[in-house]
Amino acid sequence: MRSGLVDFHCHLDLYPDHAAAVERCERDGVFTLTVTTTPKAWPRNHELASATRHVRAALGLHPQLAAERAHEIGLWEELLPRTRYVGEVGLDAGPRFYRSFETQKEIFARVLSLCAAAGNKIVTTHSVRATKAVLDMIEQHMPPPRGRVVLHWFTGTAAEAKRAVDLGCYFSVNAEMLANEKRAAITKALPLDRVLTETDGPFTQTDARPATPSDVWIAVGGLARLHGMPPADISGMVMRNLKHLLAEQG
Ligand code: MN
Repeated sequence: MRSGLVDFHCHLDLYPDHAAAVERCERDGVFTLTVTTTPKAWPRNHELASATRHVRAALGLHPQLAAERAHEIGLWEELLPRTRYVGEVGLDAGPRFYRSFETQKEIFARVLSLCAAAGNKIVTTHSVRATKAVLDMIEQHMPPPRGRVVLHWFTGTAAEAKRAVDLGCYFSVNAEMLANEKRAAITKALPLDRVLTETDGPFTQTDARPATPSDVWIAVGGLARLHGMPPADISGMVMRNLKHLLAEQG
């Protein structure tokens, strides 16, 4: 088993055995950020992660749940001082969620403003069909000196990628983003010193089953092919990027 891998966006509490999923990261040496979709889920995630060296739990309120969970923003705010890691948060303007877009924006503005006020938070962010709106809100509510955003599953244009870099953002890249040439072209344009890896498990598949953090080596292999570099150089680079991100004072 390859150790020293990074899965910076995974939903460990959505696997059938949450505790076993956490233990697997620890056993396999995969540095994993487990994200939550509601703040109610965070305390248990944090409890399990606290006993490990490799797992940390992020405090989230998923944009796809904004309509029914908006009232949980109070609990989210209450828990924020207990963690440096925030997510999954962001915006989703896809057809299924567009109706709640105004509510999503209110929640995301509050999340970013509170993170900016607290300082030094790392925010893993969803931006489906909403890259420009997400970047506008980062610029307005949490510019670079006040925190760091990791754009999870980035699908924006090259110009938006450049703007995100100027806003201090990192990008977590998964295997599905590299699955075909058109998608991979977006990823190829990202500066390598801002690239992290992720699985977004269990929402992505490896060998026709839900991907787990240990499968993140597939994204490493994809990045290696994309850039014509040995996989070990990519995994070393991602680890350095993670260390750099953690050392930054946002
Ligand atoms: Mn996710």
